[in-house]
Amino acid sequence: MNPGAWFASRKRDCPVCGRDAGRSAGNNPIPLRHPLPRQAISSLCGLCLRAIPWIPYPICRICGRAESCEDCVRRTDRAYQMSRCAVRYTDTMRDWLALYKYRGSERLEIVLAAMLAFAYERLCRVSGASFPTITAVPLAPERLRERGFNQAERLAMRLADWYRISYFPLLRRLRHTEKQSLKSRRSRVVDMRATFAPQVRPEWTGPVLLVDDIYTTGSTLNECARVLRQAAPTADPPSVYGLLWARS
Ligand SMILES: [Zn+2]
Ligand SMILES: [Zn+2]
Repeated sequence: MNPGAWFASRKRDCPVCGRDAGRSAGNNPIPLRHPLPRQAISSLCGLCLRAIPWIPYPICRICGRAESCEDCVRRTDRAYQMSRCAVRYTDTMRDWLALYKYRGSERLEIVLAAMLAFAYERLCRVSGASFPTITAVPLAPERLRERGFNQAERLAMRLADWYRISYFPLLRRLRHTEKQSLKSRRSRVVDMRATFAPQVRPEWTGPVLLVDDIYTTGSTLNECARVLRQAAPTADPPSVYGLLWARS
């Protein structure tokens, strides 16, 4: 084996951009307690690390948004307790998610899950709750076939593993709904009905964490929470908390 190859394999290339991430973390604080997601974030190069638009201090206490929030004020039928989002959905974050969807790279997946872990640790602190159960917003079967995997589920399963939470697929998606941002508020609300159905899992207990990649209006999260609570195995419906990778 030539020494060059050995060095090449030891080089720490950034899981996002491929640049050498040798001395990345430097003075950039990584806002995570758990050592494994911390390690994942510190595998990024300095440039990528600085590009993460963390939401450390949400303004909206319901949905965890970094701005004040009309959607939460207007919503009268909220089925979830609160949600927290790890980052703002900037152009860079859009690129990272697209890269992950396209490549399905495991190293990138761990980085995205580690970012979600930041929202999870925040949510635990703010809510004072502990979570026995975690689930994810499902994809419609034809979308799943097309893409090959459900990124929200993958991220939720990584989190389940790190924090020892039981992952269950508790919901089914009956049909695909169009991208929410393209529609008016009214049609979005109507659209969500009859989109999700419960999976029968008699053993789960709440509070339950519900994971999705992007929070746009909260309609998906809200509808999933409603269906989950209705289908709960106990008479007293469990609390549902949202955990989102990014807030658009
Ligand atoms: Zn990088
Ligand atoms: Zn809000």
